[in-house]
Amino acid sequence: MLNLDEILRYLRATDEETLSELWARADTVRRECVGDAVHLRGLIEISNFCQANCAYCGIRAGNPLPVRYRMEISEILQQVKLAEKLGYGTVVLQAGESPGRLPAAWVTELLCAIREISSQAVTLSLGERPEKDYAAWRDAGANRYLLRFETGNAELFAKIHPGHPGLETRLLALKMLRSLGYELGSGIMIGIPGESWEDLAADILRFHSLNLDMIGVGPFLPHAQTPLGKQFIEKMVASQVPNDEMTTLKVIALTRLVRPYANIPSTTALATINMSGGYELGLSRGANIIMPNVTPAKYRELYEIYPAKTRTADAAEIFDQNLKKRILALGRKIGTGAGNSVNFSCYTDSKSDAR
Ligand code: SAH
Repeated sequence: MLNLDEILRYLRATDEETLSELWARADTVRRECVGDAVHLRGLIEISNFCQANCAYCGIRAGNPLPVRYRMEISEILQQVKLAEKLGYGTVVLQAGESPGRLPAAWVTELLCAIREISSQAVTLSLGERPEKDYAAWRDAGANRYLLRFETGNAELFAKIHPGHPGLETRLLALKMLRSLGYELGSGIMIGIPGESWEDLAADILRFHSLNLDMIGVGPFLPHAQTPLGKQFIEKMVASQVPNDEMTTLKVIALTRLVRPYANIPSTTALATINMSGGYELGLSRGANIIMPNVTPAKYRELYEIYPAKTRTADAAEIFDQNLKKRILALGRKIGTGAGNSVNFSCYTDSKSDAR
C-alpha cells in the first residue's frame, strides 16, 4: 500500500508524467477490483432541520432558512418508488441533525414502511446519534451508514464544528456503526481553510485504517451564509490545500489505491465545480458510484448545504436519462442490484446482505 510520503508526492505533483501515472494506476485498480459498473444511489434529502452548527454548512442551526421541513413518510415512499423505477438499487436518506424533529421511532417507522414496498438497499446519513438509535434502525432494515469525519486534524475538526465534543466522538460513532453491522461510509471535504497537505495525506491513510466500505470526498464549497464561507471568501490562505478539481481528482485516485474494493462516488460537489465533466472525471480516476438527487424540487432548494447545488436540480427523470448516457459514453456500464461493498462481504456474516 502507498505510504504517507508517496501519497504526499502524488498530492503535490504538478507534472504531467506523475499525474498520468496516478490516473492510470487508479483506473486500473478500479477496473480490476470493482469492475466497469457504475452503481447509482438515489439521494433523498428527508429533512433540513438541524441543531448542529457546522461552520461550513448552509443548513446549520444558526443560519436562518426560509423554511425548515421534514418530508412526510408517504412523500418519501413516492421517491423510493421513483428511485426503484429508475433502476437504482439503493436509496440514501439524508438529513440535518435533529433528534427532536427526527425521532428514532419516526425513522424506524419510515424504514419499516420502505421495507414493505422495496428491497432496495437503504443507506442512512442522519449524523451522530446514540448507539440505540443506530441499533434500532439496523434492526428495522437499514443496511449502510454514511458519516464523514470531514478532517482528521482534531484541531481543525473542533474549529469547524462549534459545540461538538470533538473528532474522537465522531470516530467512536463510526466504530459503533461498524460493530452494529452497517456497511460503513465516511469521507472528507477537501480544501477546508487551514488544511495542510500533511492533514490530507493522513486522512487518505485513515480511510484504510477505518476499513471503510464507502468513501465520499468532495471540495469544500464556501457558502456565503456560513462563518467558514465568509472567512474563505475574505481571506484565502496561500499555503494550504486548494478546494479545486485537480486536488479532488487526486484524492479520489489515491483513495482508490488505498481502498481498492471500496465504493467511491464521483460526488455532486465535484460535479458542481465542473458541471460539464466533473462526474466523468471522477469516474475515470477511481470512482464507481454516482448519487443522483431524487428529492422533490420544492424540498431540494431548501437543502442548500453548499451554493449552486440546486442549479443541477433537473427533474430526476431528465437528470437520470442524461447521466446514464454520460456513463455509457465513457464505456462504463450501469450497475444493477444493490451494489454492496465487495470489501464488506469478505469479513461479515450474511446479515450484511441487502434485505
Ligand atoms: N447531517 C448529516 C448530513 C450532512 S450533509 C451529517 O452530518 O452527516 C453531507 C456532507 O456534505 C457533509 O458530511 C459534508 O462533508 C458535506 N458538506 C456540507 N457542507 C458543505 C460545503 N459547504 N461544501 C462542501 N461539502 C459540504
